Amino acid sequence: MKSNYTTGVMTEICDNLRRIRDEIHALEDRFGRPRGSVQLLAVSKTKPPEALREALACGQRAFGENYVQELEDKYAALAGSGVEWHFIGPLQANKSRIVAERADWMHSLDRVKIARRLSEQRPVDAAPLNVCLQVNISGEASKSGVTPDALPALAETVAGLPNLRLRGLMTIPAPSTDFDAQRWVFAGLREAQASLVDRGFALDTLSMGMTGDMAAAIAEGATIVRIGTAIFGARG
Ligand SMILES: *Cc1c(COP(=O)(O)O)cnc(C)c1O
Repeated sequence: MKSNYTTGVMTEICDNLRRIRDEIHALEDRFGRPRGSVQLLAVSKTKPPEALREALACGQRAFGENYVQELEDKYAALAGSGVEWHFIGPLQANKSRIVAERADWMHSLDRVKIARRLSEQRPVDAAPLNVCLQVNISGEASKSGVTPDALPALAETVAGLPNLRLRGLMTIPAPSTDFDAQRWVFAGLREAQASLVDRGFALDTLSMGMTGDMAAAIAEGATIVRIGTAIFGARG
């Protein structure tokens, strides 16, 4: 029996993916970025496994999850389907093992304690966990992410952990609909990355840009955009 969900949303997810890929290519051209330099991460938080299956059938491999329990459940539901799992949410120390065992990427690392646990808990037969450090560029007190001042020390520690591979930086700006304001935050992340590269870190990833600010992120050098709403629709 096919659920209404599957039959109703299926073509829509495919159409959305096609449209967003086209949009990414157009933005790469517009901002002088090489074709294929921006990867699409499909943010599937709160969406059922069927939605991910539809996206998989339309060629999408990389999925982002915010909640550990959802990562665990969808990992089991989609076992063997070739998904690349990205964890992008806040992580409590007592739940780090699930990310260490299930994820290919961790975008939201902002504490040494979590970094050490992820490295210790990474299975011996797994490739190192790819990590991005989450940086709080826009500076609101409530938000997660390391401050730019504390970033070099965290990067130093993380780069020294055997089962993590430091790939780059990630940020979640305060919501803004103003293109220049959006660009300002993303430029800040790009500059933070450049200053780490100057210090000798080999970084190749800038995880920035969501449905509402993808263009500004690509303009400033995003290599991974994290898109949920524009692919799967609004979250309930
Ligand atoms: C939910 C979420 C996204 C996707 O946001 P959309 O606006 O739905 O595209 C991207 N990154 C993170 C960290 C998120 O939590």
